[in-house]
Amino acid sequence: MKNWSERTVVITGASSGIGEATAARFAEEGANVVVAARRKERLEDLQSRLKDLPGDISVKPTDVTSQQDVEDLIKFTLDKYGQVDVLFNNAGLMPLSFLKNKKVDEWDKMVDVNIKGVLYGIGAVLPHMLERNEGHILTTSSIAGHEVMPAGAVYCGTKFAARVIMEGLGKETAGSNVRTTSISPGIVDTELTDSITDEEAMNMLKKGIGLDQITPLQGKDIAEAVYYAVNQPEHVDVNEVIVRPNRQG
Ligand code: NDP
Repeated sequence: MKNWSERTVVITGASSGIGEATAARFAEEGANVVVAARRKERLEDLQSRLKDLPGDISVKPTDVTSQQDVEDLIKFTLDKYGQVDVLFNNAGLMPLSFLKNKKVDEWDKMVDVNIKGVLYGIGAVLPHMLERNEGHILTTSSIAGHEVMPAGAVYCGTKFAARVIMEGLGKETAGSNVRTTSISPGIVDTELTDSITDEEAMNMLKKGIGLDQITPLQGKDIAEAVYYAVNQPEHVDVNEVIVRPNRQG
């Protein structure tokens, strides 16, 4: 198993939910953790809540829709810690909507964050990892990257894309020690549904798809899956982890 106190982990979408829980998981292990998202105050609050853990937390406000911001995030990390061992491309949005309601701004945002943000992250860190011949890139896809749900045409499209991009990356890095993982969660209790503005989509969710029968996952359940994937011996490459709540279909 690895000595995490000598390693550096960069996490996007770390101001809440899965990203926040994953930052805490690696801080517990003593890693240097760079937490990135747009809301600086939420990142600073996380930093102060984790201050007694062995890891060192650094805050880097980042909008993953800006390629420059993402390049700056990796540069900041290299300047401060000298290396990036793990990049977790986790930032994402899920404003579910029916296509007929033509929420064009939201389509654009999902493409920009969930697909282009992932590509910018890969592009920023890959040269460094290939040069070191070491490193691990993970991206949060979803069960929605495996099956399409009602009102999820665009969201699922972005999550299919993220998973396929990671698969393509895995083919490219197969001859090196750089490892790749898609994390595909089922329902996790986070702020993700806050961005839904399509009332029909919201009503559909509220009416439920048997949601009352399901105990949702918590961010820390996914953090554990991330930690599992990156903590394997060098010869093991975990390419995908699917974690859903027991009872979710
Ligand atoms: P949250 O809404 O709690 O977290 C989303 C994170 O993404 C926030 O930290 C937010 O930070 C960040 N983010 C959004 N837009 C940007 C941006 N432009 N630049 C940088 N960061 C951004 O939801 P989750 O924790 O659930 O979501 C994390 C990932 O998990 C997403 O990719 C989501 O699609 C995926 N997922 C979630 C599931 C669930 O049931 N919750 C199921 C399957 C996958 P800020 O607003 O501060 O920028």
